[in-house]
Amino acid sequence: LDADPDRSVAFYSQDMNQGMQDRMRIESGLRQALGNGELILYYQPKFEIGTDRLVGAEALVRWLDPARGIVPPGEFIPLAESTGLIVQVGEWVLEQACAQAALWQRAGLPPFRLAVNVSAREFTASLPARVAATLARYRLDASWLELEITESTLMHDFGRVTAIMDDIHRLGVALSLDDFGTGYSSLSYLKRFPIDTLKIDRSFTTGIPGDPSDCAIAGTIVSMAQQLGLRVIAEGVETVEQLSFLRESGCDEVQGYLYSKPLPADDFERSLRENWLL
Ligand code: C2E
Ligand code: CA
Ligand code: CA
Ligand code: CA
Repeated sequence: LDADPDRSVAFYSQDMNQGMQDRMRIESGLRQALGNGELILYYQPKFEIGTDRLVGAEALVRWLDPARGIVPPGEFIPLAESTGLIVQVGEWVLEQACAQAALWQRAGLPPFRLAVNVSAREFTASLPARVAATLARYRLDASWLELEITESTLMHDFGRVTAIMDDIHRLGVALSLDDFGTGYSSLSYLKRFPIDTLKIDRSFTTGIPGDPSDCAIAGTIVSMAQQLGLRVIAEGVETVEQLSFLRESGCDEVQGYLYSKPLPADDFERSLRENWLL
């Protein structure tokens, strides 16, 4: 331990400086990435457990940095959220996802919902109109689109959030509650907000079947969803043991490496045509 208070303060502020420099470097890099077309979307399929039918996919952003290679969203989304840059990133993601879904719609593929992650800061009164305009621009049927939001979105002003959700539903776009069980909000919002699907967070799926608490939590989320008339999906399913537990519990859908990792659009489409179309 460093007993000299002056020295530890010096070290501390140096660390802070380094941290701030890192943040500023990533932020300006991300700003450029948006302009240079360095962001790309990967797509991960979702399957219905009972039928093994592909019922949807999730769009997940990556940053193709010429210097660093593929940068995962965990390394820039939290920063984008704290700086507000997430709004521009989100606009690009929605645009790109709708453009891609419209290509699949036009190619005559059987419809499935493509889910886009929407951060709390993007969930504003102007979102429904932007979604409507994007669907119209690509002539994409609203039944192709879903928005995944997290509990943090719901913790803002109730009336405002409900109004935005209602507007989104009126368009025919579905809403799911992502990372379910990891937030701190009360369960009462589940019956108050118009949500279609609960998404069990990967942190619970991981412990199945070995960890009794994770099994209890996942099982409880499934039965609660059933009683509330919501669909329920588990993310991060990697093993057949997890799949059988979820099937026994009555979970509707699964997503995870057991079926497929997130894939670039052309790989996703190839797998879709070769393996996932029943
Ligand atoms: P998320 O929305 O909870 O997405 C699920 C994450 O789990 C993805 O990580 C996915 O690749 C990963 N995953 C899926 N199946 C498995 C599995 O079986 N095993 C394991 N170990 N992982 C699995 P990814 O793509 O790195 O994304 C991380 C997070 O970044 C996302 O978590 C989401 O919160 C955020 N994110 C990604 N794309 C976007 C976006 O376009 N907009 C916003 N706002 N956030 C995004
Ligand atoms: Ca998600
Ligand atoms: Ca998650
Ligand atoms: Ca999430």
